[in-house]
Order: sequence, then C-alpha cells, then structure tokens
Amino acid sequence: MAGVEFTGVGKAYGKGGHAVKDVTLTVAEGEFLVLVGPSGCGKSTLLRMVAGLEEITDGSIKIGGRVVNDVAPRDRDVAMVFQNYALYPHMTVFENLAFGLTLRKVPKDEIQRRVETAAGVLGLDRYLTRQPRALSGGERQRVALGRAMVREPKVFLFDEPLSNLDARLRVEMRAEIRRLHQRVGATMIYVTHDQVEAMTMGDRIAVLKKGELQQCADPRTLYSRPANTFVAGFIGTPPINLCEAGVTAAGDAIEISGTRFAVGAVQRAALVGRAGTRVQVGVRPEDLLLADAGLPAKVELVEPLGSETLVHLASAAGALVLRITSGAIPSPGDSVHVSGRADGLLLFDAGTGRALLDAETLAAHA
Ligand code: ADP
Repeated sequence: MAGVEFTGVGKAYGKGGHAVKDVTLTVAEGEFLVLVGPSGCGKSTLLRMVAGLEEITDGSIKIGGRVVNDVAPRDRDVAMVFQNYALYPHMTVFENLAFGLTLRKVPKDEIQRRVETAAGVLGLDRYLTRQPRALSGGERQRVALGRAMVREPKVFLFDEPLSNLDARLRVEMRAEIRRLHQRVGATMIYVTHDQVEAMTMGDRIAVLKKGELQQCADPRTLYSRPANTFVAGFIGTPPINLCEAGVTAAGDAIEISGTRFAVGAVQRAALVGRAGTRVQVGVRPEDLLLADAGLPAKVELVEPLGSETLVHLASAAGALVLRITSGAIPSPGDSVHVSGRADGLLLFDAGTGRALLDAETLAAHA
C-alpha cells in the first residue's frame, strides 16, 4: 500500500494553457479520495498523470514515497478502472480477469488464486465461464473492477467508472466500490463530475475548478465550511442560496435587500473590520426558515419529496430554495417571510468569493 503525494503538479497541453495548475495534495495510505469538479476542470488529466498516461509538466507526483514522474506506467503499481470497461468479448470472465497477469508471466497457480479471490469478493464466482455478452452492465463493471483487483496494486484509480450505468445500478456499484475499499484497504483515487457521488463515496473530496484545487476536505466540512463561493455552489442539492448582503454599521448583522438577518458569534467575529461593507452570503436550503417577520417572498413552487419538502421562492434577493422537514407547508402563490438560522449563514468576500470564516476564526470559536 502507498499514499500519493502531489507537489505543485501542473499540466500544459501544447500552447493551450494549463489543464492542471499547481496542485499540492497528499492522499494518505488507504484513503479514498474523490476528485470532483465540472467537466473540463482537469480531474481526468490529474488522474492520468498518476497512472503515467500523461506526462507531468510541472511539479512531482510520489507514490509510496517514490517520485514517479519518469517511471513507466507498468512500473507504478497502480491499476485504473475506466468508464468503458473494454472487456475482451471473445474471452470468458476468468480469462478477462487473468489476461493482464498472464501477460506479466505470473505463475498459473498464483493467477488462479488471485482470480478466485477477486471473483469471491465481487460475487462473480458463478460467472467465470461466461463471456461478457452474457453479463448485465453491473456484472461487466464488476469484471472491470476485478481486473484491477487481481493486479493487487498499491493504488486504484477510477475514471468516472459508473457513468454508463443506470441510476439504480450506479447507487449499488457505489456501495460495492466502498465495500471493496474497506476489504482491500488500498489507496483509491476516484474521479467524478457528480457531487452526490463524491459526497457519498469520499473519505475526503478534492474540488477542482479550471485546473486549480479549490478545497480538499471531508464531506461534512465541505458542506458546512466551503472555502469559497464556487465550492459552496458546487456541493449540495438543491444548491445553496447565494446573494449579496450589506454588513450593518455596527458590524453585528447583515442586511439582505433591506431585511436584517442576525448572525451567530462565529460570523460576528468574521465581520470584524467589515462594518458598512458588502459581502456575499450563502444559506443552505435547510438554514432558511419561514418566519412571522423577515424577507418578504412569494411561493412559486412546492416540491414534496416525502421526508422533506422543497419550497421555491421569489424575493427581492432573487430566487431562493427552502427545505422543510416538519411543520406547515405553504402553497404556491402564498406570501411568506423568510429568516435565516444565525449559525447557518456562510459569509464570503464580495470580491474574491473567499470564505470569511477561515480556519483561524473558527478555531477561536470552537
Ligand atoms: P475533466 O476530466 O475534468 O473533464 P480533463 O482533464 O479531461 O477534464 O481536461 C482538462 C482540460 O484539458 C480541458 O480543457 C480539455 O479540453 C483539455 N485537454 C484534455 N486532454 C487534452 C489533450 N490531449 N490535448 C489538449 N487539451 C486537452
């Protein structure tokens, strides 16, 4: 097993600029790290650099403490699982699993052992003599996982492996990959553009935007303490409510479209020196509350989802979404008032979008 260390890693494709810029990040041994971000943000490029499928333009990547910049892909001890599983159609499942090992001249009894172990873990025992065309999509995906497993690599790399599967199967395979992780305990790096997938799978999640690392943290921290407005907006469904606000002259509250919102102690600390200025404020749908007084809004749409109801509102501050888990539910057309949970208001610099609640401020109020 081995961790992966990125130090100042960059990738330039010809004259087209940098697809990855100055990424510094350590994936601990045995950790499940998810790389997430919108299409084109450089996550596949970063993963392919670990695999050795792309040259590293700047910085270095270490696997298990060894710099691998100039190490050939086959000598890196990594195995990659792709979206199109590319199984050999004319080979049985057993042969598909064994193929890479046969090429490497691994002894026959060792191949047998590894294939049987992988098939056991992945529930493929019954299918070893079948050809891929006689398998479902999920079973094929399992064979693709198995092919990575039999190599017994130090690091598993996943490039959007589930995007070809239907929604239900995707949820099942997520759990399966997590179980595999618990079972083999290897370091895993997983690329996806789907933030829900990232949140459900990652021990930690690294969010990328235009080739730059925005934040790397565990799912709860990412959700409740996003480093900037990009992360705040990218993580969470429905998305966070983001709007401009003014800081009161006393610096003890904020005003959104003329309505005063009280803030918690941590937020007050973050507002020191910002009295009378503008900030951006983010409020998660569950931190917006229907109240007797507050920001006036009109109910546009109500979405009952069973355990919760989403209420879409139009207000002077723009469109807002509010999540209700208990109590009265308004109807479309209703006029309501909205307030915010004082501790749930996330504050960002109006210019840079960076969180005002930095680690230091938080630590002082922990
Ligand atoms: P993601 O996986 O986040 O969707 P990629 O890593 O595939 O993003 O791509 C990041 C950026 O690099 C994109 O702007 C893409 O167009 C560019 N890119 C990827 N591969 C190449 C290549 N072989 N040549 C030139 N540009 C590329």
